[in-house]
Amino acid sequence: MIDPDAYAVVCRLQKKGFDAYLVGGSVRDLLLGHPPKDVDISTNARPEEIKTHFRNCLLIGRRFRLAHIRFKNKIIEVATFRSGDNSSEELIVRDNTWGTEQEDAMRRDFTLNGLYYDPCKEEILDYVDGVNAVSQNQIETIGDPYLRFKQDPVRMLRLVKFRARFGFNIEEKTRQALIDCRHEILKSSPARILEELLRMLESGHSRQFIHMMTDFGLLKHILPKLARTLETDLADKTYSFLDEIDRLQKEENRTLHRSILLASLVMPQLDHHLSLLYGSKEGKVTLETIHKETRLVTDEIFFPFLQLPRRLCSEMQSILTSQYRFTPINRPTSQVLRIPRNPEFKHALTLLDVRSGVSYELRDTFNAWSEIYQHHKAKNYVPTPRSRYYKKRRKRK
Ligand code: ATP
Ligand code: MG
Repeated sequence: MIDPDAYAVVCRLQKKGFDAYLVGGSVRDLLLGHPPKDVDISTNARPEEIKTHFRNCLLIGRRFRLAHIRFKNKIIEVATFRSGDNSSEELIVRDNTWGTEQEDAMRRDFTLNGLYYDPCKEEILDYVDGVNAVSQNQIETIGDPYLRFKQDPVRMLRLVKFRARFGFNIEEKTRQALIDCRHEILKSSPARILEELLRMLESGHSRQFIHMMTDFGLLKHILPKLARTLETDLADKTYSFLDEIDRLQKEENRTLHRSILLASLVMPQLDHHLSLLYGSKEGKVTLETIHKETRLVTDEIFFPFLQLPRRLCSEMQSILTSQYRFTPINRPTSQVLRIPRNPEFKHALTLLDVRSGVSYELRDTFNAWSEIYQHHKAKNYVPTPRSRYYKKRRKRK
């Protein structure tokens, strides 16, 4: 299950006289029998030394240099061993002192993530009792959990992520520290929190994750509006959407774009909001009006703490708005299905697919629109040589 390129990178570094190992999540996944999603490598070679031995190497990061070894369809990250301070509560803002491999293990978050594996010798190095943690299905911080969570509150979110993904037990002191430190989550970087949230929406375990985030009282800090919604009648519908994105990604092996995943989280609230506003009114509600309301609802959900990148945010809003092209609020008696020239349309259609998995009566609508879309694609998107020729001529004039 080890990626052959990662294996080759480790062997090459070792041949050049350095220590090099697979580390962290990839070793944990291998021990659990899952193919690792991404592979990290740690070594005692300094970034500049790594670069001299790999032509396809790029050094990134100004404050903390990392080596990215680039292959055709992937990047393998190689980090030099670092040391961390496990005795101070202070928020870590820089993490760039070189260290030994043992120090590198001690600065990692949980014992199950602190393992090193030498694939050439087929040997595990365990400085943190990590093998035991994996075999006993236990999550425990390396060092005092109160310190480790205060140093870097994102670790609390990562704890919930591993609990949701693997169903492991949380060691008692680690659990208590999570509950006592949960308000500290707001001190962490919104971008890192967003990245962990998105990774969980992609993982096929998003229902458990959001459920546990609610139980541990973390969700109300990060997404307060969503946390309040999950206390209302909309909770079931919201969880049904998460079930459906989990099912599509886990069982059908589909990769859903991040804008669709975020939109699925919001759809029940938006639908509720719009039907309260316009459900009982007569006449058509324009997509422009719906887009305005969509922006209000999504801002209220995400922006108190998280900051979505502008492009991701506008894609999500666009595909949410497009849902009311498929299923208008005050449905007209007859409707012409017209495919807009909108680059996010294909994602909007996928969200309709997700919705039809939640509400089965939308299946026919989804089938009708996807049939027309396929037809449209076949007709419009293959430019003939003749039309290209005419375009060129017109430009020259
Ligand atoms: P995933 O399977 O979601 O990638 P992961 O554990 O591999 O989970 P990464 O973000 O890929 O997570 O990080 C790789 C490794 O880096 C971790 O296994 C852990 O050893 C270390 N690490 C990551 N985040 C932290 C953190 N906040 N504090 C300390 N160590 C961390
Ligand atoms: Mg990883």
